Amino acid sequence: MRFEEIPEYSRLTCRSKYRCGDDILPEMKTSSSSSRLWRAVVRNWAHVNEGIEWRLGDGKRTKFWLDAWIPNCGKLVDLVTGPVSQLEMHEVVVDYTTPSGGWDWDRFEYRLPDQIRAKIAAVSSSFELLSARPKDLAASSPAACSFLFMVMWDNKLLTNAERVRRGMTDVASCSRCGGVYEDVLHAIRDCPNAKNLWMRLVRSAHWPEFFSSDLPSWLLLNVSKQIGRLQMDWPTTFATTCWSLWKWRNEAIFANKVEPVTDWFFTVVHRTRSYKEDFSSFLNQRTRAPSRIDKIVKWDKPELGWIKINVDGACNSEHAAKAACGGVARNAQGMFVGAFTRNLGSCSVIHAELWGVLSGLEMALHYQYRKVVIEMDSLVACELIKSPLMDSHPCAALLRDIHRRCCDVGEVVFQHVFREGNRAADAMARLAHDSRLQLSFLLSPPGDIISFLDDDNRGVGTLRSCVG
Ligand SMILES: [Zn+2]
Repeated sequence: MRFEEIPEYSRLTCRSKYRCGDDILPEMKTSSSSSRLWRAVVRNWAHVNEGIEWRLGDGKRTKFWLDAWIPNCGKLVDLVTGPVSQLEMHEVVVDYTTPSGGWDWDRFEYRLPDQIRAKIAAVSSSFELLSARPKDLAASSPAACSFLFMVMWDNKLLTNAERVRRGMTDVASCSRCGGVYEDVLHAIRDCPNAKNLWMRLVRSAHWPEFFSSDLPSWLLLNVSKQIGRLQMDWPTTFATTCWSLWKWRNEAIFANKVEPVTDWFFTVVHRTRSYKEDFSSFLNQRTRAPSRIDKIVKWDKPELGWIKINVDGACNSEHAAKAACGGVARNAQGMFVGAFTRNLGSCSVIHAELWGVLSGLEMALHYQYRKVVIEMDSLVACELIKSPLMDSHPCAALLRDIHRRCCDVGEVVFQHVFREGNRAADAMARLAHDSRLQLSFLLSPPGDIISFLDDDNRGVGTLRSCVG
């Protein structure tokens, strides 16, 4: 039974009569005057809690600050450590997500205590949030394409028209064909080269609808119908083609590359076919309903010949602007080989996380580690680094530096670990608040992290409730 299935009126009665609190999962307790029935309910409530599957729905109706939507956590407005404006007060959960469906941590992280952020991070693994936008778009395409889709759906693709709107330039025309207005539809569908490609891919019976729809109808048409000439799944082909066209457009404009020598048609067909395997595993991943499991999280030693650098960023929540990062390097035996601190002055949480990664790479270069695992607890930072670089992202410059440093180091692997596995780096980042502004290396471990190093080396773990 799910609590939300009890009719509204009896829920209210239960809550006030039995003083369960107004959290989304009621608090169940007995008093000396409780009936036998109520005692039995309370006794068995633990099993209900265990059996509950957490679903946020599409996040469009739940108020981020005012509704109690995080299990056993209360309303965020009661826990906040920084100001929330009247306007923000009425924003819904989906307003706090990025186009790719992850949390937009920059918007709220600095205003909430650590343990609350951890709880939100756990909810974020629920891909239900994606349903705020056409789910099929996201589910039927590889990660890179689905990200492009979300941006297209929100009409945020950085075309010349969008650049003009943001005051970045005053020329909205298409630099490839001279068309007056390069918006999303022009860049991806109507520019002559793109149009030629679509005419080879789409059955001619569908051309009128295909070439005249507005953006939302066009996206919906392409995920809901099989309108391709070839024996290939159309939404998949469509996703791959959009992605390829946008990439070629950027190469032509920014890298001054002449139009590709290879035939666009065959390139798209080839890419679509080779994505097929990725799709199925991607789909399996996404359709599984999230359920909570407890698991032991611990720090793992890197493989022989590798150095693992755990990095972390920290923002002082009392003074949101005070940021720092730190990290710890260890070898395959789990032994400490070095650490770093860097006081960042003032920047956002996500910047601080990325500065941690960049500093870790600088440390690797300084000590000439050639095979490096960079491990961080920020899923957002980790995904940003692994995804294709978006010029419009506020962290684009930092990300570009990170990609460049990787090439200098040699072999670099980025991976995510839960906070419980990153405690030594977290402690270094907090120490860094009092350190100098430039990157400083330490050759012996500071007292604050010795117990963490010791726990990690012995494989001591911490229990965590995860979405599995
Ligand atoms: Zn054009």
